[in-house]
Amino acid sequence: MDDKSRTGGLDVFRLIAAFLVVTIHTSPLASFSPEADFLLTRIVARLAVPFFFMVTGQFVLSGYLTGKTRDFTAVGRFLKKILLLYGGCVILYLPVGIYAGHYQEVTPLSLVRTLFFEGTFYHLWYFPALLLGTLLLCGARRFFSLRGLLVLSAGLYLLGLLGDSYWGLTAQVPGVSTVYEWGFSIFGYTRNGLFMAPLFLLLGVWMGRRKTASPVKAAAGFLLSLALMTAEGFILRAFALQRHDSMYLLLPVSAAFLYALLLSWKKSPCRLVRTASTWIYLLHPAVILLIRGGAKLTNTVWLLVDNSLVHFLAVSLLSGLLAFLLAAILAAFTRKPYQKDRAWIEMDRGALEHNVLVLRSLLPDRCALMPAVKANAYGHGAVQMARALNQMGVSAFCVACIAEGIALRKNGVKGKILILGYTHPQQFSLLRRYRLTQAVVDYDYALTLNGYGKPLAVEIAVDSGMHRLGERAEQMESLCRIAQMEHLRVKGAFTHLCTDDTQDPEGQEYTKAQADLFYRAVNELRSRGLPCPKVHLLASYGALNYPQLAGDYARIGIALYGVKSDEEDYDRSQADLKPVLSLKARVSCVRDLQPGEGMGYGLAFRAKDPTRIAALAIGYGDGLPRALSCGVGSVLLNGKRAPIIGRICMDQTVVDITGIPDVKAGDVAVVIGRSADEYRSAYEIAREAGTITNEILSRLGTRLPRLLV
Ligand SMILES: *Cc1c(COP(=O)(O)O)cnc(C)c1O
Repeated sequence: MDDKSRTGGLDVFRLIAAFLVVTIHTSPLASFSPEADFLLTRIVARLAVPFFFMVTGQFVLSGYLTGKTRDFTAVGRFLKKILLLYGGCVILYLPVGIYAGHYQEVTPLSLVRTLFFEGTFYHLWYFPALLLGTLLLCGARRFFSLRGLLVLSAGLYLLGLLGDSYWGLTAQVPGVSTVYEWGFSIFGYTRNGLFMAPLFLLLGVWMGRRKTASPVKAAAGFLLSLALMTAEGFILRAFALQRHDSMYLLLPVSAAFLYALLLSWKKSPCRLVRTASTWIYLLHPAVILLIRGGAKLTNTVWLLVDNSLVHFLAVSLLSGLLAFLLAAILAAFTRKPYQKDRAWIEMDRGALEHNVLVLRSLLPDRCALMPAVKANAYGHGAVQMARALNQMGVSAFCVACIAEGIALRKNGVKGKILILGYTHPQQFSLLRRYRLTQAVVDYDYALTLNGYGKPLAVEIAVDSGMHRLGERAEQMESLCRIAQMEHLRVKGAFTHLCTDDTQDPEGQEYTKAQADLFYRAVNELRSRGLPCPKVHLLASYGALNYPQLAGDYARIGIALYGVKSDEEDYDRSQADLKPVLSLKARVSCVRDLQPGEGMGYGLAFRAKDPTRIAALAIGYGDGLPRALSCGVGSVLLNGKRAPIIGRICMDQTVVDITGIPDVKAGDVAVVIGRSADEYRSAYEIAREAGTITNEILSRLGTRLPRLLV
C-alpha cells in the first residue's frame, strides 16, 4: 500500500550496509583496539548481509512465497539478473584470484565449493547464497506452508549456527563434528545459501507484510537486541568458540527490529543511492588492492595501509566515488521517459484484485474467469491488465479481434485467448502461430475455417436469441456438422445474453429462455458424442444477476473494472466492486480573465465576473468527450469541483478555478477518480455525455500512458 513511500529508509541503510561490509574487509579500528574492532566488524557489521537478504525477500519473493501470485516470472527475472551479475564479477575478479593463487589446485570439489558456496572472491559468496536461498525457498514452497517454511529455515539457521559462532561446542560432540567437518569440505562455511539465506529472505517477506511499526518501539527493540547480541559475541569470543563469526542467535532478532525501524521511516525512495551501494559492495575488494598497490608505489604503506583507520577511509572514499560515478552514468543511460508529464491513466492493482475475488466468490467454484480485455481492456491497457490478471491466477481471456490476441501473446500473456469476432482467412495462419482460439460465428464461417486445411482451435458461437453472431441454437444439424468438421478442434461453445441487465419480468424470462436453449443445444451435442468440453454464457450482468446459470467460464468485462455500464442498472448481487481506473491531467497554466473577456474557440465562454482559469493538458484527442464542454462536465482540483468552460479542444481543456485557492502550473487535476474527499466517477461523465461507462472508458486515447499502481 504505502510500500513506495517507506522504501527510502531501506535505501539509506543499503549505503550504510555497504560501508559496514567495507569495515569487515578493512578492520578500521584494528590499529587502536582489538575489542572495538571486534564490536564493529564482527558484531555490528554482521547486520549488513542479513539486511540485503531481507530486502530481496520483501521486494522479490513476497508475491510468490505468500501465494498471492502463482507466477514465477518476477523471481525468474531476478535470478537471471543475479546470475548475470555474478558471472560478470567472476570474470572481473578472475585475474585477481589467479594472481592471489586461488586456482593453483582445482579439483571438482573445490570448483563446487567456489562456484556454489564461497564465490570466486571473498565478497562474492553473497551471490551464490542469494541464488541458492531463493531456489530453496521457492522449491520448498510447493510442499510447505509459509509457516512451515519459517520452521524449516529457522532449523537450517540453527544448524548453521552450530558450525559458525558456536562451533567450539559442536566440535566437542564426536559424531556430529565429523558430519560438520565433512560438510565444511563441501561448503567451507555454514554462512551460505543453505543455512543462512533462507531465514533472512523469509524475514523480509514477513516484515514487508506487517503493518508499519512505531519507530520508538522498533528503535528500543533494536538497541536492546543489539546489546544482547554484543554480549553474545563477546562471551563466545571469551571462550574462543567461534570458527567464523557471521551468525549469532540474536542476529535474526536485531535484524528484524532494524528492518522495522527502517520501514517506519517515511522517506521517499532514492534510486541513485540504491545502485551506488551495490557498486560499493562489488568494487571495494578491487579498490583495496588498488590502494595497497598505490601505497607501495608511492612509499605510503605506513599511512595508507598500516594505519587501519586511514586505510578504511581511503578505501571507502575511493569506492564511494567510483560507485556514485558509475551509478550516475548508468542512471543517465537508463532514464525512462517521465510518464506523468501531461495526462495519464492510473490503474489500481488492489482494486482489480479485490474485484477478481468478489466475482469469483459470486460464481460457483467450477466457473473460472475469462476476463474480456478487448478494446485495450476497456481503455485500461490490455497487456498490463492481462499480465496482472495472470499473476492473480487468471488463465483465460477473450478479445474482440486477432490483433488484440497477438498483442497479448507477444507480451507474454499466458493461458487461453478466445477471439470473439470475425477473423479474415488471410490471418488463419496467425491463429495457429499465436495459439489463439477462434469463435465460429456461423455455419458458413465454419466451412471457411475448415477450408484452411490445418487444425484450428475453435469455440462454437451459439445464437440463443441475441441474433448478432453465432449459429442458431435451433439449427441442431448445422451445429453437429460444425463439431464434426475435420480440421476444427472444438474446445467449447458459448452464447451471449442480451437482456440480463434488466429487472423487468419480460427481460428476465428472455434470459432464462436463452440459457435454456443454449444448454439444450450443448446437451444434444454431448449426447451425440460430439466434442464440446467448455461452455459459457455469462458476461458481467449475467454473473451479477444469474450466477446459477454459469458454465465453465464467465466472460467478465465492465464489472471487473469495477463499474457497471450505468449506475442504475439492475444488479441483484449488490456486489461491492471498486473502480480500477483513474484519469489525471496536469495544469499547464493559470490566468485571470477580466469581466467581459471571452475564452477559447468561438469565444464560447465569456467571463461575467473576474475569473481565474486553468488550462489542463488533456482533450478530446485523449478520449475526453467533447460533449462535456461549456459547463456540462467538471474536474477535481485540490478536492474541489472545477467546471469545464468553453469548448474542449483536441489537446487542451480549460476549467474555472475561481474560488479554488493555490492552483498552479504542474498541479494534478482528477478527471476520473478521487481528489481528497471528492470523487468523480465514470458514471457522471457517461451521464453528462449521454452514453455508458463502457464507451467512455474504451475510448480513452492511446497516447495516455497507463500506469499500474
Ligand atoms: C464484450 C463482451 C463480453 C464482456 O461484456 P461485459 O458486459 O463488459 O462483461 C462478453 N461476451 C461477449 C461476447 C462480448 O462481446
